[in-house]
Amino acid sequence: MYAALGDTGRGSEGRPNAGFVVTSVGVVVIDALASPQQGRALVRAIRRVTDQPITWLVLTHHHPDHHFGAVVFRRLGAKVLAHPDRRVLASEAGEDALIADWVRVVGLDAMRGFEFANKPDVPVRSTDTLHLGEHELVIAHPGAAHSAGDLLVWLPKERVLFAGDILIEDGVTMIVDGSSGELLEALADIERLRPSTLVPGHGAIPRQPLELVAQTRSYVMGLRGEMRAAIERGMPMGRALRGLPPADQTRPVSLNSRRRRNAVRVYLEEERIYMGLDSAQ
Ligand SMILES: [Zn+2]
Repeated sequence: MYAALGDTGRGSEGRPNAGFVVTSVGVVVIDALASPQQGRALVRAIRRVTDQPITWLVLTHHHPDHHFGAVVFRRLGAKVLAHPDRRVLASEAGEDALIADWVRVVGLDAMRGFEFANKPDVPVRSTDTLHLGEHELVIAHPGAAHSAGDLLVWLPKERVLFAGDILIEDGVTMIVDGSSGELLEALADIERLRPSTLVPGHGAIPRQPLELVAQTRSYVMGLRGEMRAAIERGMPMGRALRGLPPADQTRPVSLNSRRRRNAVRVYLEEERIYMGLDSAQ
Protein backbone atom coordinates (compact mmCIF):
# COMPACT_ATOMS: atom_id res chain seq x y z
CA MET A 1 0.00 0.00 0.00
CA TYR A 2 1.44 3.34 -1.07
CA ALA A 3 0.22 6.89 -0.68
CA ALA A 4 1.30 9.58 -3.15
CA LEU A 5 1.12 12.86 -1.26
CA GLY A 6 0.52 16.05 -3.17
CA ASP A 7 2.48 19.09 -2.17
CA THR A 8 2.43 22.41 -3.96
CA GLY A 9 2.92 24.51 -0.83
CA ARG A 10 -0.56 25.97 -1.26
CA GLY A 11 -2.37 23.93 1.36
CA SER A 12 -5.51 22.18 0.21
CA GLU A 13 -5.58 24.20 -3.03
CA GLY A 14 -2.64 22.17 -4.22
CA ARG A 15 -2.26 18.74 -5.68
CA PRO A 16 -4.44 16.19 -3.92
CA ASN A 17 -3.31 12.89 -2.49
CA ALA A 18 -3.61 9.59 -4.30
CA GLY A 19 -2.57 6.05 -3.49
CA PHE A 20 -2.06 2.60 -4.92
CA VAL A 21 -2.11 -0.97 -3.74
CA VAL A 22 0.12 -3.56 -5.40
CA THR A 23 -1.49 -7.00 -5.47
CA SER A 24 -0.46 -10.27 -7.10
CA VAL A 25 -3.14 -9.71 -9.76
CA GLY A 26 -2.48 -6.07 -10.59
CA VAL A 27 -2.31 -2.57 -9.18
CA VAL A 28 -5.30 -0.69 -7.77
CA VAL A 29 -4.93 3.08 -7.99
CA ILE A 30 -6.95 5.31 -5.68
CA ASP A 31 -7.63 8.68 -7.35
CA ALA A 32 -6.04 9.93 -10.55
CA LEU A 33 -4.79 13.41 -9.58
CA ALA A 34 -5.62 16.65 -11.32
CA SER A 35 -4.46 16.37 -14.96
CA PRO A 36 -3.12 13.88 -17.50
CA GLN A 37 0.37 15.19 -16.70
CA GLN A 38 -0.10 14.45 -12.98
CA GLY A 39 -1.65 11.08 -13.86
CA ARG A 40 1.47 10.19 -15.87
CA ALA A 41 3.67 11.22 -12.93
CA LEU A 42 1.67 8.85 -10.73
CA VAL A 43 2.14 6.03 -13.27
CA ARG A 44 5.92 6.66 -13.17
CA ALA A 45 5.82 6.45 -9.35
CA ILE A 46 3.96 3.13 -9.60
CA ARG A 47 6.47 1.82 -12.17
CA ARG A 48 9.33 2.52 -9.77
CA VAL A 49 7.70 -0.01 -7.43
CA THR A 50 6.15 -2.66 -9.66
CA ASP A 51 5.68 -3.92 -13.24
CA GLN A 52 2.24 -5.36 -12.44
CA PRO A 53 -0.50 -4.12 -14.79
CA ILE A 54 -2.74 -1.32 -13.49
CA THR A 55 -6.11 -3.05 -13.38
CA TRP A 56 -8.34 -0.73 -11.34
CA LEU A 57 -8.79 2.98 -10.78
CA VAL A 58 -11.02 3.78 -7.80
CA LEU A 59 -12.24 7.39 -7.57
CA THR A 60 -13.09 8.77 -4.12
CA HIS A 61 -15.31 11.39 -5.81
CA HIS A 62 -15.79 13.49 -8.94
CA HIS A 63 -13.98 16.76 -8.27
CA PRO A 64 -11.52 17.67 -11.07
CA ASP A 65 -8.45 17.56 -8.84
CA HIS A 66 -9.13 13.88 -8.11
CA HIS A 67 -10.09 12.56 -11.55
CA PHE A 68 -8.72 14.76 -14.35
CA GLY A 69 -5.77 12.37 -14.69
CA ALA A 70 -8.09 9.35 -15.08
CA VAL A 71 -7.76 9.06 -18.86
CA VAL A 72 -4.11 8.02 -18.44
CA PHE A 73 -5.14 4.97 -16.40
CA ARG A 74 -8.03 4.10 -18.67
CA ARG A 75 -5.68 4.13 -21.68
CA LEU A 76 -3.46 1.67 -19.79
CA GLY A 77 -6.46 -0.65 -19.50
CA ALA A 78 -7.63 0.11 -15.97
CA LYS A 79 -11.32 -0.25 -15.18
CA VAL A 80 -12.87 2.69 -13.33
CA LEU A 81 -14.76 2.04 -10.13
CA ALA A 82 -16.67 5.09 -8.86
CA HIS A 83 -20.01 6.33 -7.60
CA PRO A 84 -22.34 6.93 -10.57
CA ASP A 85 -23.44 10.37 -9.32
CA ARG A 86 -20.92 12.68 -10.96
CA ARG A 87 -22.73 15.97 -10.28
CA VAL A 88 -20.63 18.73 -8.71
CA LEU A 89 -21.34 22.47 -8.44
CA ALA A 90 -18.23 23.27 -10.47
CA SER A 91 -19.68 21.54 -13.55
CA GLU A 92 -23.08 23.27 -13.49
CA ALA A 93 -21.98 25.65 -16.27
CA GLY A 94 -21.21 22.63 -18.49
CA GLU A 95 -18.20 20.46 -19.22
CA ASP A 96 -16.46 22.98 -21.51
CA ALA A 97 -16.59 25.65 -18.80
CA LEU A 98 -15.27 23.15 -16.26
CA ILE A 99 -12.32 22.31 -18.50
CA ALA A 100 -11.62 25.99 -19.21
CA ASP A 101 -11.65 26.79 -15.48
CA TRP A 102 -9.35 23.88 -14.79
CA VAL A 103 -6.86 24.88 -17.49
CA ARG A 104 -6.50 28.14 -15.56
CA VAL A 105 -5.58 26.13 -12.45
CA VAL A 106 -3.16 23.52 -13.82
CA GLY A 107 -2.08 25.09 -17.15
CA LEU A 108 -2.63 23.96 -20.73
CA ASP A 109 0.45 21.74 -20.90
CA ALA A 110 -0.72 19.65 -17.95
CA MET A 111 -4.10 19.13 -19.64
CA ARG A 112 -2.75 17.90 -22.99
CA GLY A 113 -4.53 14.66 -23.97
CA PHE A 114 -7.38 15.24 -21.54
CA GLU A 115 -10.64 13.37 -21.86
CA PHE A 116 -13.31 12.76 -19.26
CA ALA A 117 -12.73 9.26 -17.91
CA ASN A 118 -14.61 9.26 -14.61
CA LYS A 119 -17.76 7.46 -15.77
CA PRO A 120 -17.56 4.21 -13.82
CA ASP A 121 -17.21 0.83 -15.51
CA VAL A 122 -18.27 -0.51 -12.15
CA PRO A 123 -20.65 1.86 -10.36
CA VAL A 124 -20.75 1.62 -6.56
CA ARG A 125 -23.86 3.05 -4.92
CA SER A 126 -23.56 1.45 -1.49
CA THR A 127 -20.74 -1.06 -0.84
CA ASP A 128 -18.56 -3.28 -2.97
CA THR A 129 -15.54 -5.40 -2.08
CA LEU A 130 -12.61 -6.08 -4.40
CA HIS A 131 -10.76 -9.32 -3.64
CA LEU A 132 -7.40 -9.10 -5.36
CA GLY A 133 -4.92 -11.83 -4.50
CA GLU A 134 -4.18 -11.49 -0.80
CA HIS A 135 -5.72 -8.01 -0.60
CA GLU A 136 -9.23 -6.90 0.12
CA LEU A 137 -10.57 -3.40 -0.58
CA VAL A 138 -13.97 -2.39 0.74
CA ILE A 139 -15.39 0.53 -1.22
CA ALA A 140 -18.35 2.23 0.41
CA HIS A 141 -20.56 5.27 -0.15
CA PRO A 142 -20.85 7.11 3.18
CA GLY A 143 -23.61 9.45 1.98
CA ALA A 144 -23.24 12.83 0.27
CA ALA A 145 -20.77 14.18 2.82
CA HIS A 146 -18.29 16.16 0.71
CA SER A 147 -20.05 15.47 -2.62
CA ALA A 148 -22.86 13.33 -4.02
CA GLY A 149 -20.45 10.71 -5.32
CA ASP A 150 -18.24 10.15 -2.27
CA LEU A 151 -16.60 6.77 -1.72
CA LEU A 152 -14.40 5.58 1.13
CA VAL A 153 -11.70 3.01 0.35
CA TRP A 154 -10.97 0.71 3.27
CA LEU A 155 -8.33 -2.02 3.53
CA PRO A 156 -9.56 -4.03 6.53
CA LYS A 157 -6.45 -6.21 6.98
CA GLU A 158 -4.06 -3.27 6.89
CA ARG A 159 -6.58 -0.95 8.64
CA VAL A 160 -5.82 1.73 6.06
CA LEU A 161 -8.50 4.19 5.00
CA PHE A 162 -8.44 6.47 1.97
CA ALA A 163 -10.97 9.11 2.98
CA GLY A 164 -10.97 11.36 -0.10
CA ASP A 165 -11.93 14.94 0.67
CA ILE A 166 -14.18 13.92 3.55
CA LEU A 167 -11.03 14.61 5.54
CA ILE A 168 -8.58 17.41 4.73
CA GLU A 169 -5.43 17.75 6.78
CA ASP A 170 -4.27 21.17 5.57
CA GLY A 171 -7.54 23.09 5.50
CA VAL A 172 -11.19 22.33 6.16
CA THR A 173 -13.51 19.84 4.45
CA MET A 174 -15.80 21.54 1.95
CA ILE A 175 -19.48 20.68 2.18
CA VAL A 176 -20.92 22.88 -0.60
CA ASP A 177 -21.44 19.76 -2.77
CA GLY A 178 -22.53 17.63 0.19
CA SER A 179 -24.11 18.48 3.54
CA SER A 180 -23.03 18.97 7.13
CA GLY A 181 -25.43 16.28 8.40
CA GLU A 182 -24.12 13.60 6.05
CA LEU A 183 -20.55 14.69 6.76
CA LEU A 184 -21.13 14.13 10.50
CA GLU A 185 -22.53 10.67 9.75
CA ALA A 186 -19.54 9.84 7.56
CA LEU A 187 -17.20 10.92 10.37
CA ALA A 188 -19.00 8.55 12.74
CA ASP A 189 -18.57 5.73 10.18
CA ILE A 190 -14.85 6.46 9.98
CA GLU A 191 -14.53 6.42 13.78
CA ARG A 192 -16.21 3.02 13.91
CA LEU A 193 -13.61 1.66 11.47
CA ARG A 194 -10.76 2.81 13.78
CA PRO A 195 -8.19 3.13 10.97
CA SER A 196 -4.55 2.90 11.95
CA THR A 197 -3.56 4.88 8.84
CA LEU A 198 -5.76 7.50 7.28
CA VAL A 199 -4.95 9.12 3.95
CA PRO A 200 -6.85 12.42 3.67
CA GLY A 201 -7.80 13.98 0.32
CA HIS A 202 -5.22 16.72 0.79
CA GLY A 203 -2.37 17.29 3.22
CA ALA A 204 -0.23 15.02 5.36
CA ILE A 205 -1.15 11.64 6.84
CA PRO A 206 -2.14 12.48 10.42
CA ARG A 207 -0.22 10.80 13.23
CA GLN A 208 -3.50 10.34 15.12
CA PRO A 209 -6.22 9.55 12.55
CA LEU A 210 -9.10 10.01 14.97
CA GLU A 211 -7.84 13.44 15.99
CA LEU A 212 -8.37 14.70 12.46
CA VAL A 213 -11.87 13.21 12.55
CA ALA A 214 -12.55 14.95 15.89
CA GLN A 215 -11.21 18.29 14.62
CA THR A 216 -13.40 18.08 11.54
CA ARG A 217 -16.44 17.27 13.65
CA SER A 218 -15.77 20.13 16.03
CA TYR A 219 -15.42 22.58 13.10
CA VAL A 220 -18.75 21.42 11.61
CA MET A 221 -20.56 21.41 14.96
CA GLY A 222 -19.17 24.83 15.82
CA LEU A 223 -20.28 26.28 12.49
CA ARG A 224 -23.73 24.75 12.87
CA GLY A 225 -24.08 26.18 16.37
CA GLU A 226 -23.06 29.67 15.24
CA MET A 227 -25.39 29.70 12.26
CA ARG A 228 -28.30 28.28 14.26
CA ALA A 229 -27.81 30.95 16.95
CA ALA A 230 -27.75 33.67 14.27
CA ILE A 231 -30.99 32.39 12.73
CA GLU A 232 -32.69 32.13 16.12
CA ARG A 233 -31.79 35.77 16.72
CA GLY A 234 -33.27 36.72 13.33
CA MET A 235 -29.86 37.69 11.95
CA PRO A 236 -29.64 37.83 8.15
CA MET A 237 -26.93 35.76 6.49
CA GLY A 238 -24.73 38.73 5.64
CA ARG A 239 -24.48 39.68 9.30
CA ALA A 240 -24.01 36.07 10.46
CA LEU A 241 -20.98 35.80 8.17
CA ARG A 242 -19.47 39.12 9.22
CA GLY A 243 -17.00 37.50 11.65
CA LEU A 244 -15.37 35.46 8.87
CA PRO A 245 -12.55 36.79 6.72
CA PRO A 246 -13.69 37.56 3.15
CA ALA A 247 -13.45 34.85 0.49
CA ASP A 248 -10.51 35.16 -1.90
CA GLN A 249 -11.99 36.30 -5.21
CA THR A 250 -9.84 34.19 -7.54
CA ARG A 251 -9.24 31.27 -5.18
CA PRO A 252 -12.51 29.41 -4.60
CA VAL A 253 -10.90 26.68 -2.46
CA SER A 254 -8.48 28.75 -0.37
CA LEU A 255 -9.00 28.40 3.39
CA ASN A 256 -10.88 31.73 3.64
CA SER A 257 -13.07 30.83 0.67
CA ARG A 258 -13.75 27.35 2.03
CA ARG A 259 -14.78 28.67 5.45
CA ARG A 260 -17.08 31.30 3.98
CA ARG A 261 -18.69 28.99 1.41
CA ASN A 262 -19.27 26.35 4.08
CA ALA A 263 -20.82 28.98 6.36
CA VAL A 264 -23.24 30.02 3.59
CA ARG A 265 -24.17 26.41 3.04
CA VAL A 266 -24.67 25.67 6.77
CA TYR A 267 -26.68 28.89 7.27
CA LEU A 268 -29.08 27.73 4.54
CA GLU A 269 -29.26 24.22 6.04
CA GLU A 270 -30.04 25.60 9.49
CA GLU A 271 -32.60 28.02 8.05
CA ARG A 272 -34.46 25.13 6.43
CA ILE A 273 -34.39 23.18 9.70
CA TYR A 274 -35.64 26.28 11.60
CA MET A 275 -38.50 26.71 9.13
CA GLY A 276 -39.40 23.03 9.51
CA LEU A 277 -38.56 22.20 5.89
CA ASP A 278 -35.84 19.73 6.87
CA SER A 279 -35.30 17.73 10.03
CA ALA A 280 -32.03 18.03 11.93
CA GLN A 281 -29.56 15.21 11.19
ZN1 LIG B 1 -13.21 17.30 -3.51
